[in-house]
Amino acid sequence: MKKIIIIVIIFLCVCNQIYAKNILEDKTMEKLINKERLQANFIKYAKIDTGSDSVKAELQIPSTDKQKNLAIVIAKDLEQLGLKNVNIDKHYIVTADFPSNRENMPIIALFAHMDTSSDVSTGPVNPQIHNYTGGDIVLKNNIIIKSEDLKNEIGNKVITSDGTTLLGADDKAGIAEIIEAINVLIENPSIIRPEIKLVFTPDEETGMGTTVFDAENFNADLAYTVDGSAPQELDTETFNAYNPEITITGKVVHCGYAYNKMINSLEVANEFLSKLPKDETPAKTKGRQGYYYIDEIKGTGERTIIKMLVRDFDYNQAKKRIDFLEKTLKEIEKKHNGVIIDFKPKMRYLNMKEKLQEFPEVITYAEEGIKRSGLNPKQNSVRGGTDGSALTLRGLLTPNLGAGGENFHSQTEFVSVETMTKCCENILNILSVWVEHSEEIMPKILERRK
Ligand SMILES: [Zn+2]
Repeated sequence: MKKIIIIVIIFLCVCNQIYAKNILEDKTMEKLINKERLQANFIKYAKIDTGSDSVKAELQIPSTDKQKNLAIVIAKDLEQLGLKNVNIDKHYIVTADFPSNRENMPIIALFAHMDTSSDVSTGPVNPQIHNYTGGDIVLKNNIIIKSEDLKNEIGNKVITSDGTTLLGADDKAGIAEIIEAINVLIENPSIIRPEIKLVFTPDEETGMGTTVFDAENFNADLAYTVDGSAPQELDTETFNAYNPEITITGKVVHCGYAYNKMINSLEVANEFLSKLPKDETPAKTKGRQGYYYIDEIKGTGERTIIKMLVRDFDYNQAKKRIDFLEKTLKEIEKKHNGVIIDFKPKMRYLNMKEKLQEFPEVITYAEEGIKRSGLNPKQNSVRGGTDGSALTLRGLLTPNLGAGGENFHSQTEFVSVETMTKCCENILNILSVWVEHSEEIMPKILERRK
C-alpha cells in the first residue's frame, strides 16, 4: 500500500511538472500580448505632461504637481484590473500587488517612473504614429529623426512626439509594458506567476523619487526597473555618483576701498575651476572613464555656489576625485585669508554591480528570460544612474530592463510598438523563468528574507 501511494505521488509530481512546462511552451508570450492595448495605454500615458523639476525636487516630492495627474490615472487603471492594495502615497508613489497563483513563490517588484526629463519641453505631448518604411522622419520645427537611428524599425509602427516636446517613452513605455504584462497574466490564469508588486515612482529624472521610497521595509525579494533602452540590454552597472556643492564666501568691500581687502568669490571660483583636469569632462570621456562636470555656477562677488557632478564606475576612483576637490579647495581657502569655502560631497548613488553579486540569479534569470524572447542578452554599463542604483544600495537588488525607447530627453525621442511588445515579452519571460526555478531558488530567498 505504502509503495502504491509513493508511486501515485511521484506520478502526480511528474504530471504537474510536465503540465507547468507545457503551459509555457504552448503559449509563446508574444502571441498573448495585445499590441493595440499596449499602444493605446502608452499613448494615453505619454499625453499627460509629467516633467519633473530638479530644483524643486530638493524641497518636495513630487517636484511638480502635474506628475500627480498620471499617478491618479495609473492607480485607476490598476484598480480596474482588480489588483490588490492599490495605493497612492503622499509622494504620489503608486503601488499595487498582484498575488501569485501558486504557493511559495518569489516576490518580484516591477518599477517604472512617471516623470519625464525637463531637458526639453515636456508637454502637452501630441504623439504621432508613423508606419515606418525608411528614411528620415521630419517633425514640426524641422526636428529630424535620422534614418540611421531608425534602421531597426523598418516595417514597424514608430511613435514620436510632434517635434515640439519630448515623447516621454522614458519611461511611459516602461509603465505601459508592465501594465500589459499584468493584463496578459490576468487573461491567462493558467500561467503560473510569482507574487508581483508594482511600483510607479515620481522624480526619477531628478534622482529624488526613490529617496522617499521605503526600500528597506518593502516586502520584495528582488526587483527590476523597466527604464532602459534596447530590449536585449540589461543594465547591471551604473556610475558611482556624487553631486558636490561648493559655496565660496568672499569678502566684499566698496570697490573704491578694496585694496588688499576685498576677496571676490567669483575670482576664487574661477581659480578653483581652472585646477580641474581639462580632459576629464563628459565630452572628453567614454566607456568606463569617469569625469567631473560643472553643472551650475551662480554667484556674486560676495558668494558663489558651484554645483558639480562627479562620476566613476570604480568606487575608489570616485572617492579619489572627491578627495581631489576637497584638497584643492582647502589649499585655495588657505591661500586667500578670509575666504570661507564650504564643501558638501553629496553622495547620490553607488554602482550596483558589486551588490548584485550577492544574488547573481537576479541577472542570470533575466538573461534567460531575454533569450527566451529570441534575443541575445547584453549586460550594459550605464554612464548614469537608474532608480535601481539607489534601491540596490538599500538592499532591494534592482537591475534595469530595456523599455525600448531611443533618443531619450530630446524632441527626437521615439519608440515602436514592436519594440515595446518585445520588452513586454521579456518581462513575462523573466517572471516565468523565476517560476520555473522557484523550487531551487526558494531556499536561498527564504534565507535572504530572514
Ligand atoms: Zn528613465
